[in-house]
Amino acid sequence: MFVARTVAELRAARHEAPGPIGFVPTMGYLHQGHMSLVQAARIDCATVVASIFVNPTQFATGEDFERYPRNETNDLALLEANGADLVLLPGVEEVYTPGDTTRIRVDALTEVLEGARRPGHFIGVATVVAKLFHIVQPDRAYFGQKDAQQLVVIRRMTRDLLLPVEVVGCPTVREPDGLACSSRNVYLTPEQRQQAVALSQSLRAAEAAFADGVRDPHTLRRLVRERIEAQPLAAIDYISLADASTLWELNADIEASALLSLAVGFGNTHLLDNTTLVP
Ligand code: AMP
Repeated sequence: MFVARTVAELRAARHEAPGPIGFVPTMGYLHQGHMSLVQAARIDCATVVASIFVNPTQFATGEDFERYPRNETNDLALLEANGADLVLLPGVEEVYTPGDTTRIRVDALTEVLEGARRPGHFIGVATVVAKLFHIVQPDRAYFGQKDAQQLVVIRRMTRDLLLPVEVVGCPTVREPDGLACSSRNVYLTPEQRQQAVALSQSLRAAEAAFADGVRDPHTLRRLVRERIEAQPLAAIDYISLADASTLWELNADIEASALLSLAVGFGNTHLLDNTTLVP
């Protein structure tokens, strides 16, 4: 496994590597969710490239950029064990050259949910993913359904900018009790960690109701809300049931794929989870 710390090093190594090239962008502090993306890329592609870059432009002032967890040694060991060939581990000034002022903004899709909760967040995400796509020039790029809105935004950006990259969405990997794996889970106190299981449990309950024929979005949102509100340490940011492609909030009965997504704060830690309901 070759570790490139500069864009030039990555480009030189990529030039020699056999295609198709699969790419897994991450912010590090890797877990089984990230590894599932590497494994999916390993199956499909001759060369697997991963990146580890905590992207400053997707964090607002006061968010956790400075304290975002980092563990380079462990990340590289996991990537190597899971068969990555190349790792891009650039410094901030490799990606944002001094004086950089260009940004990518995807409209509409980014005005709701995480975009409403974190203004500017998706400008940072779209910009860094576009830059990474230009550096790595992958044939396929792998993203987790765990960050469902991010996946929708990246698919749209890739399409709108005519980038020759196939965006592949991969299922959410969970801890044994159902909590979605996340680098931020490490922030949770034992009590918060226990109560956080309500996120996935509420989604499973909504799926069961949906399977029983419940189609009313208000009923399904309420069902989720009641389960989260039963956890004293949980503060709901939002519970959304939206059209899975436009992300418009639903008011009428579900007739097409719907994204049930939630963001819940435990102290300063905000956890996300979601499921897709397909009629
Ligand atoms: P991050 O390092 O949090 O920016 O995540 C990097 C990639 O891993 C993104 O495509 C995430 O959606 C994906 N990812 C994060 N957590 C999970 C998970 N639990 N299951 C599957 N993919 C995940």
